[in-house]
Amino acid sequence: MSFSHEDRTSNLAELGEDPFDLIVIGAGITGAGIAHEAAQRGLRTVVLEKGDIASGTSSASSKLVHGGLRYLEQLKFGLVAESVRERHLLLEMAPELVWPIDFVLASYKGSKHSARKMRLGMWIYQRLAGKHRLAKPRVLEPEELAQLEPALRQEGLVQACVYQDCQTNDARLTLTVAKAAHQAGAVVLPRCEVVGALDGLTRLQIKDRLTGTEHEVSGSQVVLAAGPWTDQLLQLLGIEHHQLVRPTQGVHICFPFEKAPVERAVAMTHPDDGRAMFLLPWRTHTVVGTTDTDHEGPVDRLCASGEDADYLLRAYNHYCPDHPLALDDIVSTWAGLRPLVNEPGKPPSKISREHLILRLAPELSVIVGGKLTTFRVMAREVVTGLGLELEEASDPGPYPAKLLPASVEEAVREEMCLTVTDYLRRRTLQFCTGADQGLGQVDAVASEMGKLLGWDEDYRRVSVDAYRREVAQSRAFRA
Ligand SMILES: Cc1cc2nc3c(=O)[nH]c(=O)nc-3n(C[C@H](O)[C@H](O)[C@H](O)COP(=O)(O)OP(=O)(O)OC[C@H]3O[C@@H](n4cnc5c(N)ncnc54)[C@H](O)[C@@H]3O)c2cc1C
Repeated sequence: MSFSHEDRTSNLAELGEDPFDLIVIGAGITGAGIAHEAAQRGLRTVVLEKGDIASGTSSASSKLVHGGLRYLEQLKFGLVAESVRERHLLLEMAPELVWPIDFVLASYKGSKHSARKMRLGMWIYQRLAGKHRLAKPRVLEPEELAQLEPALRQEGLVQACVYQDCQTNDARLTLTVAKAAHQAGAVVLPRCEVVGALDGLTRLQIKDRLTGTEHEVSGSQVVLAAGPWTDQLLQLLGIEHHQLVRPTQGVHICFPFEKAPVERAVAMTHPDDGRAMFLLPWRTHTVVGTTDTDHEGPVDRLCASGEDADYLLRAYNHYCPDHPLALDDIVSTWAGLRPLVNEPGKPPSKISREHLILRLAPELSVIVGGKLTTFRVMAREVVTGLGLELEEASDPGPYPAKLLPASVEEAVREEMCLTVTDYLRRRTLQFCTGADQGLGQVDAVASEMGKLLGWDEDYRRVSVDAYRREVAQSRAFRA
């Protein structure tokens, strides 16, 4: 189904005609999910996104659709039960994009997870999953783990468990949901930034970031799904409120599998501070993440610092002492901001991952917090909470998901791919795992996109340079 720049252009031309029932600001997983739910339930919906679909946090996650085993420690049983249910539904609705993977959870002498606590946690996790459980966890003695994952630290190992959770491609999952929203009748407008409110909150001014032209859009209800940009947008819209989001930065670093040969995901605690983190297989690579540090300053240009990379390397080198890695082995990094609900005084990793929906004016709802995994639940709550007469929510059926586009042309015509960065960073995996992060292909991709999108030489150069800057930024930790 067509989902292209041509759809975008015709949608923009019709934007001012009739007011919408619902304007959604932000096309991360939260906004895309809300737009899909609203369109399915009969609301005339538009979703405005200043960058690409999923260009914010929703392409910088750990790429897990998970029940949240570690939330058991915080006694968040409801959150875990909800997450495992959603995990199951996503496995059914998007099997190309959500797949089970094995996790190893190991208990070492003196670690905060004793073998007994680990086994109890597994039991509760399975019970909460009920009929949605994945493969039954297995308890492994040290010699069995040594056979299964020889790269993992053996010293001090008491026992381990292998259990299952799911992995996804976050950017493509978000794209898939945005495309499903389009299919259900929503108007999806990437690279259209909300720059002000014209007349109360129901008439917004937007700027087309591709051409610089300004437009207006009206709607009876507005939902802010702007993740880490929420407080900035509230200020822009003239809404006074205490700080709603506590943005904490999470960094991942990525290595070729040959250098970090761990076949399964590993749930571990950092040797310095006991924080939960992961080693994750990511196709031909292994990813280590994540940090969790309070973020101050601009939300737009994030990157891994040398300190972040060192911190993550220390954990990897502790758990894989026979395959030590150094900064030079890193092939890519990415950083994102968790839009956590502001809970002053708590350390970042203790802040709840649950979402919060607020009605800040009769025509304005705001959603913050949450997880990729639970986006459907969040969307349903937001749309139901609008208090409008709606059609019954129907089963959305399978998502029109695809693991990767077959070509640049398919990405342009069917996946709303508008720039070189969209293609190399979010439609494909070149940015994370490509040789040289896709820099070797950048000119060829730009020429093909240029032909399809009618770019002149100057515009082609702008798109190429923007991608080169993204790659340079992801390597800033080396400075
Ligand atoms: C390091 C890390 C790891 C994580 N790992 C996982 C995981 O493994 N599993 C999981 O379930 N969850 C995970 N999460 C949480 C999950 O990624 C986030 O909760 C989710 O992606 C947030 O999505 P969002 O749509 O709310 O925000 P975003 O994806 O940031 O979307 C907000 C959008 O609003 C747009 N916007 C901002 N201002 C404007 C404007 N003026 N006009 C128009 N648009 C605007 C932005 O461009 C952006 O695209 C992780 C988060 C982080 C940071």
